[in-house]
Amino acid sequence: PAMLGILGGGQLGRMFTVAAKTMGYRVTVLDPDGNAPAAEFADVHLRAAYNDHAALKELAETCAAITTEFENVNADSMRWLAQHVPVSPSGDCLAIAQDRIQEKAWIRKAGLATAPYLALETVEDLNHDLAPYLPGILKTARLGYDGKGQVRVATAVEARAAYADLGGQPCVLEKMLPLACEVSAIVTRSNPHEVAVFPVAENRHAKGILDVSIVPAQVDAALAAQAQQMARQLAEALDYIGVLAVEFFVLDGGELVINEIAPRPHNSGHYTIDACVTSQYEQQVRAMCGLHPGRTDLLSPVVMVNLLGDVWQDDGGEPNWAVLMQAPNAHLHLYGKREARPGRKMGHYCVLADTAAAALEQAEALKDTLGT
Ligand code: ATP
Ligand code: MG
Ligand code: MG
Repeated sequence: PAMLGILGGGQLGRMFTVAAKTMGYRVTVLDPDGNAPAAEFADVHLRAAYNDHAALKELAETCAAITTEFENVNADSMRWLAQHVPVSPSGDCLAIAQDRIQEKAWIRKAGLATAPYLALETVEDLNHDLAPYLPGILKTARLGYDGKGQVRVATAVEARAAYADLGGQPCVLEKMLPLACEVSAIVTRSNPHEVAVFPVAENRHAKGILDVSIVPAQVDAALAAQAQQMARQLAEALDYIGVLAVEFFVLDGGELVINEIAPRPHNSGHYTIDACVTSQYEQQVRAMCGLHPGRTDLLSPVVMVNLLGDVWQDDGGEPNWAVLMQAPNAHLHLYGKREARPGRKMGHYCVLADTAAAALEQAEALKDTLGT
């Protein structure tokens, strides 16, 4: 069977690997971490840096196609690999998604809305009138996730101080918007260019980290369709190949603006494993292999709940999963991470029910029993 390669071996890589293996492929994972969650299922684990030339050479020589599960792998590694083997997403798309300044510029260029923002490439850019972006959030252009690298600022003085606190690196200052809710749409674009979009998820966060995804999103059908259309439009504008996640803000007035993108499957798309005809991970396999995207129909309303390290005991003891699995309509997914730390994504569960509201109610009750 053909070998598929993936840069990054976190939980997204683990679920990708399971999907690929199920479909009959072999998988090579490149990840420097000896305990990478994907390694347990992979045929080959290359334990090296994402720009290690020997490892990249081995990937190029042994794999039929290559993808990534982590946006911060070196874009140049993907560009080098692409000279030898089909790579998706492209290094160029990865580079855009790695940098909020480029990302927002591309979203605007595609004719789509973002929050009002000011790119702060250097300290000089703080001399602009900041008032249109205040109160706002200062976000580092690179490497932020789960709300890290972000500071809320009310005044220009605070914005300047926060910019210095973040080390004077490139940032964006983004206006704080009144949110009715947040949603995401995950689009798959294959080569030849066929596009499929998953049902829209409504995402609730706790302490800056995704907590719960509800599908179907509890929003207007027209608004959900618009989010799907915007995701499609962005994938076309980027000439994107692979799985692309698009996060949206739904404003109090009902407008949709794009918050950010992820060039890979997304936490808010875990539900597709249990509740869709095709999972986002199977879509990733299909897209990288030049196959048709699978159907994205939702088979049942579903709620996904993230399991963070916070619910593990201080001595590392696991929650009582038996309680969760007594619910015949709940599915538990654990990522095999050895060390539970607060805020660390250790697993998730999905609850399927006749309505999203019923699934949410049951998911919340299970959260209480687990102490999440
Ligand atoms: P992720 O883990 O999704 O990559 P991140 O660290 O890149 O997160 P963002 O998605 O930019 O962070 O922001 C995290 C959360 O903060 C958003 O989901 C939203 O709840 C809130 N937030 C961010 N920007 C704004 C804004 N301009 N107005 C209102 N709320 C915002
Ligand atoms: Mg992000
Ligand atoms: Mg986000």
